[in-house]
Amino acid sequence: MNMNREEIIAALSPDKDPAELFALADKVRRENVGDAVHLRGLIEFSNHCRRRCYYCGIRAGNARVRRYRLSPEQILDCARTAVRLNYKTIVMQSGEDPHYDPKALASILEAVKTETGLAITLSVGEHSREDYKLLRAAGADRFLLRFETSDRRLFSMLKPDSDYDTRFRCLAWLKEAGFQVGSGVMSGLPGQSLESMADDILLFKELELDMVGIGPFIANPDTPMAGAHNGTLEAALRMVALTRIVTVNTHIPATTAMGSIDPKGRQKALRCGANVLMPNISPAEHRSDYSLYPGKICVSEAPEDCAGCMDAMLKNLGRARAEGFGHSLKSIEASPR
Ligand code: SF4
Repeated sequence: MNMNREEIIAALSPDKDPAELFALADKVRRENVGDAVHLRGLIEFSNHCRRRCYYCGIRAGNARVRRYRLSPEQILDCARTAVRLNYKTIVMQSGEDPHYDPKALASILEAVKTETGLAITLSVGEHSREDYKLLRAAGADRFLLRFETSDRRLFSMLKPDSDYDTRFRCLAWLKEAGFQVGSGVMSGLPGQSLESMADDILLFKELELDMVGIGPFIANPDTPMAGAHNGTLEAALRMVALTRIVTVNTHIPATTAMGSIDPKGRQKALRCGANVLMPNISPAEHRSDYSLYPGKICVSEAPEDCAGCMDAMLKNLGRARAEGFGHSLKSIEASPR
C-alpha cells in the first residue's frame, strides 16, 4: 500500500492514537500473509564479536561478558532439537566471530542441511561477495543483516567501526547470491527523528526485503550507551504496523526485544502486523551470555518450554503455527533443498 513520507511521519507521531493504524496493519497482514505464524528456532552459536557497536552488550572489549562458542556438533544438536519441536527453520546467529569464518560455517551448513533438511537463516554479519556465495551454495537459504538506521550520521555514531555504504553493499551482494534477505532497525534510538524512522520504512520497501525485524532500543549498562533513554514498545509497534502496510507481504517477527520491554509485547506485535516468532533453542547454559541488552526474556527456559509458550500464545490469539518452511512471499525463487 502506498504511503508517502509525510503520511508515515504523521502516523509515527506519539500524539496520534494508533488504534486505527494497528487495525489496518492487522487487516493487511491477514489478507496478504494469512493467520499462520512461522516459528524459527534461534541458535545463538557464538557471542564473540570483532566489532564495537556502541549499543551492543557483546561488543568486543566488554570484559563483563562470559564468552562462549558452540562446537559444530552442538550446533547440529540444536538443529535436531528444532526438528523434534517441529520447527521448519533455524536461525544461526552470532557476533562477527573470526573463528567461524565462512569456510568453517559452510561445512556446518552442509551437515545441518543434509541431516535435517531445515530451512536455514544466517545472521553472521558482514562478509565478502564471494563468501556470501559460498554460504549460499553450502545450504543457507536466508540471511539477516540489519542496517539499524537509515540515518548515515546516526549509523556512524552507533557503529563507529562499520561503514554505512559497505552495509548496503553487503545487502546487495546477499540478494545477488540468491539469499532471501532480511534487514531491520532499532526504534527509539537516542537522536533518532520521526523523519529518519519514516525513511527506514521507505527503505525497507525500496530494498524489496523478504524479512524486516524491528526492535526497541534498550540501553545496555555495560556499553557506552549506558543510561540512555530506552525506546518504547508503542514506537516499535507503530513501525511494525507501518512496515506491514507499506511492504505488504514481508515476513515480520514479533521480536524478543519487544517481549523484553513489555510482557505482552510480542502478542501486541502479532496483532498489528507481525507474523513470525523466534523461539530460542540455544543450550540453556549459554542463553544469558548472549546479552545484547538487559532484561532479555527466555534465558532460563528449556527449548520445549519455549515451544509450549509459543503455542499457548498463538492459541490465545486465535492463530496457529504455519506448516511449511515459510520462505519469502516476494518474487524471488525460494529454494528448499
Ligand atoms: S551489533 Fe553485531 S556486529 Fe555490532 S558488536 Fe554486537 S554482535 Fe558485533
